[in-house]
Amino acid sequence: MTKYIVITGGVVSSIGKGITSASIGRILRSYGLKVGAIKIDPYLNWDSGTLNPYQHGEVFVTYDGMETDLDLGHYERFLDVELPGMSNITTGKVYQSVIDKERKGEFLGACVQIIPHITNEIKEMIRKIPESEEYDVVLVELGGTVGDIESQPFLEALRQLRNEEGHDNVMFVHVTFVPYLHAAGEFKTKPTQHSTKELRSTGIAPDMIVCRSEKPITDSLKEKIAHFCDVPSNAVINTPNATTIYEVPLIMEKENVGNYVNKRLNLNLDVKTTNLEQWKKTVDAIKGDKSEATVGIIGKYIELEDSYISIKEALIHGAAANGIKIDIEFINSDVDNLDEEKLSNLDGILIPGGFGERGIEGKLEAVEYAIKNNVPIFGICLGMHMMVIQFARRNGLDNANSSEFADNPKYPVIDMMEEQKKIKNMGGTMRLGAYECQLMDDSIAKEAYGENSIDERHRHRYEFNNEFKEKLTSHGLKLSGTSPDEFLVEIVEFDDHPWFLGCQFHPEFKSRPDRPHPLFTSFVKAVYDYAKNKN
Ligand code: GLN
Repeated sequence: MTKYIVITGGVVSSIGKGITSASIGRILRSYGLKVGAIKIDPYLNWDSGTLNPYQHGEVFVTYDGMETDLDLGHYERFLDVELPGMSNITTGKVYQSVIDKERKGEFLGACVQIIPHITNEIKEMIRKIPESEEYDVVLVELGGTVGDIESQPFLEALRQLRNEEGHDNVMFVHVTFVPYLHAAGEFKTKPTQHSTKELRSTGIAPDMIVCRSEKPITDSLKEKIAHFCDVPSNAVINTPNATTIYEVPLIMEKENVGNYVNKRLNLNLDVKTTNLEQWKKTVDAIKGDKSEATVGIIGKYIELEDSYISIKEALIHGAAANGIKIDIEFINSDVDNLDEEKLSNLDGILIPGGFGERGIEGKLEAVEYAIKNNVPIFGICLGMHMMVIQFARRNGLDNANSSEFADNPKYPVIDMMEEQKKIKNMGGTMRLGAYECQLMDDSIAKEAYGENSIDERHRHRYEFNNEFKEKLTSHGLKLSGTSPDEFLVEIVEFDDHPWFLGCQFHPEFKSRPDRPHPLFTSFVKAVYDYAKNKN
């Protein structure tokens, strides 16, 4: 029988509910349990695919091609699993499904209402996941904060879930923030008390309260929270800011979270078998000593670093794999000219994915800089497009471009895929999810992966244009990865450079702290070599 751990949030958003959920999952996984995770996003969008990264950060893509909330990335990295796309439930999906059923006549005669129809649909969507994946425990994180109008139907459904599944099979964790007031010189528990009260008003009594804080809080403060929020004092967990997010499972385990969950959900585990030792080693490697090199991410959504979260994490994993720590600089590509001084500080350049014309010239300038100065450069999706365009422009195809940015360019080295031209809707219509790619011998890619064939996740409409294959390869561009039928170009390289690789897919989604992605490990190695030679 599957057990559910529901995670709600209070006080303020962005306190790290996703990391908290993922950390609880990591602890349970260390007991040998099969753990899955669901993110509920109470917004009306069907998925996060059409959301600007400034709204909710990066759009994470699952292997089966769902465009989801970035928390699924945290779950995959902490749990080392591949989650199915249905693990991201939105208000849009729930309502669409109910309305579709109504149109089919499935509720014939009934007046369709939030309770029971919407709440039943929510429970059905939640239960479908352990049914298909056979998880022992499923984490269910509810986005937003308790008290939001959008969350109400979900809270009601989750309350019902506890009644239906039984008290021993569903537990509630409420994550709050305990602020420190400098003027008063003390921590304040009142916001936690209020948000717990708000949660109780929906009929949900929390079993555990996780208090986020900037610095550790005292035991007497925990006692106070336990008393006012009516939970046992060993169920008040403090997670002060950590050096790295990967430390959070270790902090929570020190607070005996595993033990508490084990008892509360009657898991009957021998909790001494916890195996966070390996995880701890990875965390120590990630923490590192001092930084050895600097990688610049050249993008246009840099004001919100969450826009590039999986890339940032994959770089951190790749650095740890090389036994070093790196600094990551976010550089705005939406400027007339990139700051030369900033560029000269970099030991590696990464051009991430993106959409639309804004910020393109800055990215092309960064490619040119990397080629001229032999700086390792890694382009992902749109980043690969930039590398191909700049390579073409330097090799006789003046003003080469992608048809994404120019109407009928003379040299459309990147062009829309034929089947995409017929599609009118924007949502969920790109080339999405995992596709196979075969690798060419004597390439950076083949050496890094050590395999002939790989599969990686995609999210794009435009592709390398085969009309320019001959011209570009004659100037040294190497098409080192292609689809099995050799039609689609998946990886480009350039041998006359220390490390120049662009890929059409998003390798960052598959990197794990303890299983770093080979391309990131290989890139960081080149970056480190460059930094050492520079000094
Ligand atoms: N905008 C480009 C395309 O649709 C690249 C997408 C991306 O970087 N994810 O093909």
